[in-house]
Formats: sequence, structure tokens, C-alpha cells
Amino acid sequence: MNLANCPQCGKVYVKNSYNICPSCLKELEEQYRKCADYLRKNRGCTLKELSEGTGVSVNLIIRFIREGRIAAKDAPNVLVPCESCGEPVKEGPLCANCRSKLSKDVHNMREDEKRRAEYKSSSGGSTYMKNRDKFEKS
Ligand SMILES: [Zn+2]
Ligand SMILES: [Zn+2]
Repeated sequence: MNLANCPQCGKVYVKNSYNICPSCLKELEEQYRKCADYLRKNRGCTLKELSEGTGVSVNLIIRFIREGRIAAKDAPNVLVPCESCGEPVKEGPLCANCRSKLSKDVHNMREDEKRRAEYKSSSGGSTYMKNRDKFEKS
């Protein structure tokens, strides 16, 4: 059995895929249910209104959204801060700015890989050199 300390309440519990103890999980479910309920009745509410209306902390609501438990389409006015710059965005985790910056980075990374692959194929002669060394020694 795998025991761990619950990060929420500090109690020892048997490890599960949620990484919190069953009583905290129940609490979490309750808070999620409150959010879902509130959103059903106040579809156009903002993050602040949702938090104030349910008593659920803003951070937890952001977590629900990031985990996809609260869908962006169900909470069209609930904006979450961009994971990179903190700018409020409708659909996370990144704002359009950071997204395009990231895709540029990915592009650069691919270019690097291409260059490395090219370098590898052009330096293919080294195996020949090693073989020749072997021949001369024997
Ligand atoms: Zn707990
Ligand atoms: Zn951003």
C-alpha cells in the first residue's frame, strides 16, 4: 500500500490518482458541483462572480478550468490567467501572444534538429576513419 500525506490537509492517506485524501476529494467534488450549478444558472458570470457566488477560491476554479472539468463553452466569461504571462484568456492555458511565441520556439527547435541531422549525415566519413585506424594497428 502506498501512503502519502495529503497536500491539502496533511493527513496520511492511501495514494490515489487524485493525489489528495478521500475527504478532501469529497470536498473538492462539492466545490466543483457548486461551480457547475452556479454556471448553469449564471452562464455569463465572470471568474470573480463565480468565486463570490460559490465561495470557491479563484485558484481552485482556475484549476477546474485547466483540468477541463469546467469547459470554456460553459463559462464563456470566465477568463483564466495565461500560464506564461498572466494575461486573462478565454481558453487557456496560453494567450494568443504566448501561443504564437511558443509555436515559433517549437519551429526553431525543429530547425535545430534538422541542422543536427544534416551534420550527422555529413560527418558520416568518421566511421571510415575509425576502421582505417583499426586496420593500420592490426
Ligand atoms: Zn486531505
Ligand atoms: Zn500569455
